[in-house]
Amino acid sequence: MKRILLIPILIIVIITSSCTQVEDVTVTNGGIVITFDDHHFTNWLHADSLLNKYEWKVTFCVSLIGTRSESDIERMHKLQDAGHEIAGHGYIHVYSTLYTATHGIEKYIEDEITPMMDFFEAESLCVRSYSYPYGSRSNYIDNELLNYFDILRATSNEFRKPEKSRCYFNNSRLVYACGLDDHFDHSSEEYFLDLITYAHEEGKIILFYTHKPVETVTGEYQVSFNTLNIICKYAYDNEMTFYTMSDLADMIE
Ligand SMILES: [Zn+2]
Repeated sequence: MKRILLIPILIIVIITSSCTQVEDVTVTNGGIVITFDDHHFTNWLHADSLLNKYEWKVTFCVSLIGTRSESDIERMHKLQDAGHEIAGHGYIHVYSTLYTATHGIEKYIEDEITPMMDFFEAESLCVRSYSYPYGSRSNYIDNELLNYFDILRATSNEFRKPEKSRCYFNNSRLVYACGLDDHFDHSSEEYFLDLITYAHEEGKIILFYTHKPVETVTGEYQVSFNTLNIICKYAYDNEMTFYTMSDLADMIE
């Protein structure tokens, strides 16, 4: 009789624990993280000159650092000196899952991570965060990269209602960000405002990522200054806090 009772109780316990959701972190008025990928230093500085009036603070995730010019490196330092974070985005910028499957994790680290970190160190830049090229990741690679970084950023580009989005900080060292680039199916200023309004009202920290900010969008992987302005103005007017990726890492309990 006891054994008969125990089995349904065990099943209920297992179901309940597997459905436990990780809680999103909440802060007064909500927060916002904006990250930029690749190496569009001139455009990033232009965006900074337009948007620093909103006291924004963002994260620039730099790829292919070994192929950048001296003036690009100077621009990178300028952005950091302006209060932004410089993060890693791959020395050779590959799909981590494909590269690891073909060459193994050690070779992936040797080609994608170690030379990048050496370069940043030689430039006296303390890099603590990493964004995955193409959002390509796995738990196995996360576990390895968390030996090198405090926080990792993946991507989430499905159209989801704000309450169903997974692009809020939830105390995890792996975060998901929603794409702001104009070419995504979900992209519209109205949808981005819905997300940020929800984050503000619920006190959550919403994460976005994009690539190249431009006056007029002419291709993929671009966002207009106007879209960024709308988002940053909303955050500023509603007293939301701008966080960098490493700010989030420092909040993890
Ligand atoms: Zn990239």
